[in-house]
Amino acid sequence: MSSDSPRTANETPPLSPAPPHGGAAAIGRALFEQSPLSTVVYDPAGRITSANAAFERLFGLRVADIVDSYSILEDAQLAELGLQPAIRRAFAGEAVVLPPIRYDATRVTGGATTTWTQGYFYPVHDADGAVSSVVLVHVDLTASRAAEDALRRQSAELEAQREALEEQIEEAHALAEELRQANDALLAATEQAAAERAAAERAARDVGAILESIGDPFVVHDAEWRFRYINRPAAEVFGASFNTPAEHLLGRVLWDVYPDIVGTKMEHEMRRAAAGRELVISEVYYPRHGNWSEIHCHPMPDGGVATSWTDITARKRAEEAEHYLAQATAILASSLDYEVTLAALARLVVPALADWCTVTVVGAGGALQQLAVAHVDPTKVDWAHEVQRRYPGNPDSPSGVAGVIRTGKAELISDITPEMLEAEIRDPEYLRLIRGLGLRSVIIVPLVAHDRVLGALSLIAAESGRRYGEADLALATELARRAALAVDNARLHREAVQARAVAESANRAKADFLAVMSHELRTPLNAIGGYAQLIEMGVRGPVNDEQREDLERIQRSQRHLLGLINDVLNYAKLEAARVEFRAERVPVRPLLDGLEDLVAPQVAAKGLHYDCCDADPDVALLGDEEKVRQILLNLLSNAIKFTPAGGTIRVSADADGDVVRLRVADTGVGIPDDQLERIFEPFVQLARGLSTGHEGTGLGLAISRDLARAMGGDLAAESGPGQGSTFTLTLPRVR
Ligand code: ADP
Repeated sequence: MSSDSPRTANETPPLSPAPPHGGAAAIGRALFEQSPLSTVVYDPAGRITSANAAFERLFGLRVADIVDSYSILEDAQLAELGLQPAIRRAFAGEAVVLPPIRYDATRVTGGATTTWTQGYFYPVHDADGAVSSVVLVHVDLTASRAAEDALRRQSAELEAQREALEEQIEEAHALAEELRQANDALLAATEQAAAERAAAERAARDVGAILESIGDPFVVHDAEWRFRYINRPAAEVFGASFNTPAEHLLGRVLWDVYPDIVGTKMEHEMRRAAAGRELVISEVYYPRHGNWSEIHCHPMPDGGVATSWTDITARKRAEEAEHYLAQATAILASSLDYEVTLAALARLVVPALADWCTVTVVGAGGALQQLAVAHVDPTKVDWAHEVQRRYPGNPDSPSGVAGVIRTGKAELISDITPEMLEAEIRDPEYLRLIRGLGLRSVIIVPLVAHDRVLGALSLIAAESGRRYGEADLALATELARRAALAVDNARLHREAVQARAVAESANRAKADFLAVMSHELRTPLNAIGGYAQLIEMGVRGPVNDEQREDLERIQRSQRHLLGLINDVLNYAKLEAARVEFRAERVPVRPLLDGLEDLVAPQVAAKGLHYDCCDADPDVALLGDEEKVRQILLNLLSNAIKFTPAGGTIRVSADADGDVVRLRVADTGVGIPDDQLERIFEPFVQLARGLSTGHEGTGLGLAISRDLARAMGGDLAAESGPGQGSTFTLTLPRVR
């Protein structure tokens, strides 16, 4: 606020200097003195001429103390406050309103008063218009100032409070926003959680359905081996096989529920899957039910294990059966002595398939003969033999071994009861012995071959506690079938061996007879020839031409008969394997060269050409030279016989690798294809009736082939009707 503002004049209270005398002057004086407004009058020099009580109260001083020393025009404090110009203007005659000031009276008086005042200067002019005095009225603003301050403070506080409130409101808004957002997020999260829960429930339902749909039994154990999940097939297994409802198992520890698993391979494998965190697949045997399973143990993320299993008992049984059958077959094929093989078979079966195994066969005359008894303990076998000797059993019994052999039908008793034994066994001592064996289960299968019951195989379970079922019966039946075949084969073999021995001895007798007969015939024949020759030579007197012709016929017939007998003798000797061979190196060329001289007369007589190819001088064969020459002469004599006049006979040889081939070829009548093999059979002659002068036994080629084969070679023919024939003798080559 400016102290020289024109407005201030209007606000100035209408005061006049104190009246100079009584009456109005006194009133004025009284008013001056009593006025609650601090009023002080200055002379034109700024010195106090008078002041009222209110002034003294306001400033806390006594005017008398300062009246001599003080001049407002020199007031340092007011000068500091910058009021001197306004004061001067007032002393120059202008009514001035000072701005409110905080005035510290202590600086003037040494007192302790500090006040807020606002001063109003009223200059008093004399008649000349000069300023005679200046009245200063102070309005005490201290209280109002304090109130103002308080008000200001309050309003500041209020402002602060308002600001704080505003802040709080803002915060509240922010909080509300945050809350709203959080709420939204929460809502979204809740929705998501609900969706996830629904999805999880769906997944769980799906997984449940999937697990349920697994055909194999499937269980899940937690890390402490408590049952967590059991699918339907597994529940059925637990219900049927163990009499344990699945719901009773959940939460219970596997090893507590089934202590018989502890220590088995099954426990080992399940723990291996859990510890190694790897899938374990294994075949395990469950002793309580005697069955096999293939288990798959999958480690679970929580440390547990999910196990599924498949019953592979049938497959294992089949493998076991295959194993035993293969072994049985090997045993049965190992010997033709069936007593030995059946005893070995009985031993094979014990103890894997039975505690006892017996084999009974039908002997000569139909009597039953216990061929083999097997038990792991040999002393028990001796004991069984003794019992069998003392109690041979009733051969007419409708059941047991005798019954099975009679009917040919197998018997399976899974569970032997004491009553059964009592019904079967009459003798009390025998019954006591049998009871002592603790028989549990039995299978008796007939040994049948070619519809003949040869005997029976019995498998008996005792101390092992094994119970036979249909699978065991099937295995035993197959074992019995193979055993029966082996027995039958052995019997057939024995019969064949015997028949062969009989035939061989008959053949030997025939050969012996032929050899003897031939020998015996040759003596008189030689005598006939010899005497005919003597007569022809005229030793007994003169012989006329007719007689000579007869004698020649006699001698031709004698030679022919002698030839026949020699052939028969040779053949008989060969048949009886009485011919001895030498194995020697025979050079081929001289052998062939020497033949021509031997056949030259017949060749010439028939008007044939004889051709002998030069053989390699280094080629030699391994054989008996005499026998080889015999074969070649036989082939040459046939060639001469069956080749008409003008034909050619050709002898040749070649060698190839380890063999030497000697060939006799002719251009004769030939041999039909279908007869090429027959001519090597004994006594076979082709077109016998038609051939004239072709005498013979039909033994020549048979003997020749036998000789060739006996020397490690062979004899074969190639021919065709009208094409001539080629006979090839093959023999081992020697270097
Ligand atoms: P054989 O000569 O005593 O009759 P073989 O066993 O030597 O007895 O001969 C059997 C048969 O084979 C002869 O009867 C003949 O029919 C036929 N045969 C053998 N060699 C020849 C040949 N070179 N040409 C035609 N046929 C032959």
